[in-house]
Amino acid sequence: MSTEKRPDALINAEGLRFDGRRPDELRPIQMEVGVLKSADGSASIRQGKTYILAAVYGPRELHPRHLTLNDRAYLRCVYRMATFSVSDRKRPAPSRREREISMVIANALEPALFLEDFPKAVVDVFIQVIQADGGTRCAAINAASLALADAGIPMRSLVPAVAVGKADGTLIVDLGDEEDKYGEGDIPLAVLPKTGEITLLQQDGSFTREELLEAVQLGVNACKYLHELQKDALKRAYAKRTPEDDDEDDEDDEDFEDDLETDLGESDLMEDE
Ligand code: UDP
Repeated sequence: MSTEKRPDALINAEGLRFDGRRPDELRPIQMEVGVLKSADGSASIRQGKTYILAAVYGPRELHPRHLTLNDRAYLRCVYRMATFSVSDRKRPAPSRREREISMVIANALEPALFLEDFPKAVVDVFIQVIQADGGTRCAAINAASLALADAGIPMRSLVPAVAVGKADGTLIVDLGDEEDKYGEGDIPLAVLPKTGEITLLQQDGSFTREELLEAVQLGVNACKYLHELQKDALKRAYAKRTPEDDDEDDEDDEDFEDDLETDLGESDLMEDE
């Protein structure tokens, strides 16, 4: 559980953070792919005490229909915190913060996807924060991009994300809850590793121009490491799959194609062929 009081110092005399990390050190991170049976794709992430599940469904028929996009699939992200995910009970009704973070996550993921391959359809991404201890939007992007890959959604690349912040005047990577609450600011960012394109950049608190540039560089470097963890998690999941799983997947793919034909009408499928 998070401490309610500000720690005496966020950075100690040795230059270490109050949880013992170096300024550029990430929390222990575990990512796992294919954790939910009912989803088309799924992933979990533990980043320090932050724990998040992501489930992907689709591409599938979009309801309500007025949201349909004629030239691409609609990427619908829903970020929610469980009522028990924070020390104060989180009210179950969707908050403005959750709605904003859902949009921010969709914007960060969209450039990585070939949504134009699935006009009129929807790709649903459900993100559930089980335990929040800082950095949930970035951890959610890490998990959601893995879940999208697990669902077989065509992607340009995975999307690693991390927050860089400032505590006691020092730039720090991957903020925990206390650093987020009592630090001087944070900059969540997400990167497409192949091109270096930054798909999420927010800022809370004040940073000088030099600090901002250094923070982005620290974040991009951390994302390279997170990208390796993401690839390892995918490889582990696929190494575990048996030939029988592949046969089942092939059958599922055929079912999916039949469903898509029914859902979208043949003409939509023909456009791509
Ligand atoms: N938080 C909380 N209650 C809430 C929302 C957030 O205690 O209703 C905590 C949670 O630990 C979260 C942190 O505040 O991770 C920072 O929230 P912020 O909005 O900065 O987003 P995040 O850093 O999680 O992306």
